[in-house]
Amino acid sequence: MTVRQILAIGHPALRIPAATVPRPEITGARVQGIVDDLIDTMRHANGAGLAANQIGETDRIVVIEVKDNPRYPYKPPIPLTVAINPQLEVLDSETVVVNEGCLSVPLRGDVVRSVNLRVRYFDRHGAEHCHDARGLAAGTWQHECDHLDGILITDRADPATLCTWEEFERHHRDAFIERITEFVELVGS
Ligand code: ZN
Repeated sequence: MTVRQILAIGHPALRIPAATVPRPEITGARVQGIVDDLIDTMRHANGAGLAANQIGETDRIVVIEVKDNPRYPYKPPIPLTVAINPQLEVLDSETVVVNEGCLSVPLRGDVVRSVNLRVRYFDRHGAEHCHDARGLAAGTWQHECDHLDGILITDRADPATLCTWEEFERHHRDAFIERITEFVELVGS
């Protein structure tokens, strides 16, 4: 298990759509090593999620975990989830504007996300999962799966809302948390 370097916006690997992991390879040493490194790297950086592209790997693998996160203190907890070949199904037309950050991008920005999702994926043991995710948890799934398609928040954000973390804390954080509170209650799973 290794804390890997997180690639920053501009690195070509972040723009390459990741490849589906063949099912027999899920429990193999190569994929298990990537999963371990994703977990270590995400936790080391206090991320809420991390996609394989962000450490230079080309497989459709994301990890998500939220618990007492200093980067996102308003986020609802999400237990450690390893998702291989995740697929998202948008369940209805309800959307919410979420101010998002990313370990590969030094800015935050407002992104429109679907509120109600069905999520399907394989875990690291090869078991298939299907559950619904709502609110900010749904936003986290969409953010991480965007990475697997080579998409970054700067592609989706309203450019006028882009700001540094410091200026977000100073000028925008309180209003965002007030606006987002009803969605924080909608914990996915
Ligand atoms: Zn990201």
